[in-house]
Amino acid sequence: MSKKVIVITGASSGIGEATAKLLASQGNQLVLGARRADKLQKIVKDIETAGGEATYAVTDVAKLDDVKALAAKAISSYGRLDVWMNNAGLMPQSQFIQGKVDDWNRMIDVNLRGVLNGINAALPTMREQKAGQFINISSIAGHSAHSGSGVYSATKAGVLMISEALRAEEAAAESNVRVTVVSPGAIATELVNSITDEATKSGTEEFYNAFAIAPERVAKTIAFAINQEADTEINEFVIRPSRQVM
Ligand code: NDP
Repeated sequence: MSKKVIVITGASSGIGEATAKLLASQGNQLVLGARRADKLQKIVKDIETAGGEATYAVTDVAKLDDVKALAAKAISSYGRLDVWMNNAGLMPQSQFIQGKVDDWNRMIDVNLRGVLNGINAALPTMREQKAGQFINISSIAGHSAHSGSGVYSATKAGVLMISEALRAEEAAAESNVRVTVVSPGAIATELVNSITDEATKSGTEEFYNAFAIAPERVAKTIAFAINQEADTEINEFVIRPSRQVM
């Protein structure tokens, strides 16, 4: 397997952190983006201590300039950009009647606009290289909605639609840019901390404590998609705990 330059947004915890560590251990060069510099520094150090290569740029994915700077960091550090993982996200679920407009806007800004910013920052370079891959993190909540999940589900369903259109465009252009969506179920990360409604948060915590699986499981599926031959594109994984009903 050849060494790849891989950018991960939301790399400071959870699925992003686990994926960064696994992909670095496989000999790839990692470029990590998120807002918490201290966490990113620590993860880069962990990777280096384990013999891997990584760097980071403090990034708010809602800001296009930050995301473009993250892409530029990959090029200036390692000379190319092979994989862009749009992973940053938050899940402050609540019912519409609660009117948590700030939460709705943050989800749209990060979960949806953040993905578009990532595509905008990375696609021209991938087109030029005639090679590349997007890993876009959706959710099983992007496949169906339930009480309280409306805006989160809408952003994650949006990720599915954006990814499918991008896949079709790149296939038609014969650009060798691949698109993979990962739709996880309950994964034990910091995601629940983003819920601002206390009742929803404690109910979700209880569910996650009983069912959630480790983020390393998701990392393995992402590595599998990245490590396919260049002519083979895995378009979607749905991965959830074996005991998760919905
Ligand atoms: P975590 O909360 O552990 O990780 C979320 C990451 O996103 C953090 O690194 C956080 O870093 C980053 N982030 C949040 N806001 C921004 C922003 N504005 N700019 C840049 N980075 C940001 O949760 P997960 O690892 O679970 O979440 C990763 C993805 O997986 C999300 O898209 C989530 O929706 C999705 N997912 C998770 C599931 C689960 O059960 N855990 C299930 C389905 C999907 P920082 O705060 O430092 O910026």
